[in-house]
Amino acid sequence: MTGLAVRDLHVTYPGTPPVEAVRGVSLDIAQGETLALLGPSGCGKSSLLAAVVGIVDASGGSVAWDGEDFARVPVHQRGFGLVFQDGQLFPHLTVGANIAFGLEMSGVGRAARAARVDELLALVGLEGLRDRGVTELSGGQRQRVALARSLAPRPRLLALDEPLSSLDADLRSRLAVEVRDILRAEGMTGLLVTHDPAEAEVMADRVMRMADGRLA
Ligand code: ADP
Ligand code: MG
Repeated sequence: MTGLAVRDLHVTYPGTPPVEAVRGVSLDIAQGETLALLGPSGCGKSSLLAAVVGIVDASGGSVAWDGEDFARVPVHQRGFGLVFQDGQLFPHLTVGANIAFGLEMSGVGRAARAARVDELLALVGLEGLRDRGVTELSGGQRQRVALARSLAPRPRLLALDEPLSSLDADLRSRLAVEVRDILRAEGMTGLLVTHDPAEAEVMADRVMRMADGRLA
């Protein structure tokens, strides 16, 4: 068993009444494959993704990688990367420092960091912008930085939560193709969630639909 295996995953938020955001989802993603979950706002996509990555606790079910149960493995040891809709870059850091951030956290030395940053700048087409502040970038450039930052530590799986939804339609369709090519070039395993059918179709090898907390 290689890759991601999600079994009967549940996410319930406390409250009166509790919100059952994810109600028994099972799916597999093979190594090197990108799966898109397509569904309307509120159907539980972000909750599912957050439980897979480990930033939200599942209330039931399991998440495993290469057959290893990740229930007790904390977020930073899962080796999963995450890209959000609005990038969530560190505004006070340069492009290069944003991309290097995860590498620095995991103790990669200065020279190796610099080399990997250059590699990623080339990969996402931002050569020459290493020392630019991220507040001086366009929306599309910011999302490229977010992608580069997530890819830098070579995650075993990249989770993308509506990564292009904040961009205008024209840029969105161009970047969808680019991101797909980048994920393929890196041999990345991907879990994309989106409400945009075109984005799902372009970026993923396989599309599953989600509605009301379940796969449809
Ligand atoms: P999607 O990403 O598909 O829009 P979400 O996973 O964000 O869906 O939300 C699924 C359901 O869970 C919604 O009803 C939403 O209001 C609810 N929800 C999401 N996050 C929380 C939270 N932190 N606390 C309580 N309810 C939440
Ligand atoms: Mg969402």
